[in-house]
Amino acid sequence: MEKIIFISFPRTNNLLLVRFLKFLFKDDFCSQYHNCGTVPCTCNPQKKLSKTFDFELDIPITDDNFYMYIENEDKIKNIEYYFHFWLFVNNIHEKNYSKYNDKIQNIIQYYDKLHKKYSTKKSNILHVYSQDFEKNPQETLNKVFLFLKPVISIEKIQETKEYINELSFHNYVAKKSENDLYDYIKNFMNQQHSE
Ligand SMILES: [Zn+2]
Repeated sequence: MEKIIFISFPRTNNLLLVRFLKFLFKDDFCSQYHNCGTVPCTCNPQKKLSKTFDFELDIPITDDNFYMYIENEDKIKNIEYYFHFWLFVNNIHEKNYSKYNDKIQNIIQYYDKLHKKYSTKKSNILHVYSQDFEKNPQETLNKVFLFLKPVISIEKIQETKEYINELSFHNYVAKKSENDLYDYIKNFMNQQHSE
């Protein structure tokens, strides 16, 4: 049975996509927060969709599965939001970010590998940006829907079209950057390039 693997860069604004996928897959959705979140799913091997961060970058890409990857179109924001979250969970209020350059470096490396892995041009990999859902929510959901159509039942197809038409998209507002942190990471990345 083919599976859908939904990979998101951590802290990407993906609520609309998650909501849409929950509508499509309901109890067949295995989330890394509420279920086992491993690939393949261990809570119920019949579940169709697994959501993961692929932290170990060890999820195999096979021809029979469908892969959806979402990230922010601005590389710096990916690093910033994840690093900001890391500071938050570790209860760090320090503004001297240079103490954590190693962590920033780790996040950049993880981002680069994840981005490269899922940027491979294959018909069973869909790469989307969180901004796609902000700029053109309806069109982007339709794109996701078409991509997943081979695994969606006929009955679900009409229901899905109605669901997309009825969604009110203004509820999904993007996060804002912390400017000092954004600039810090931008400079950090520029320095790396010039070294
Ligand atoms: Zn599971």
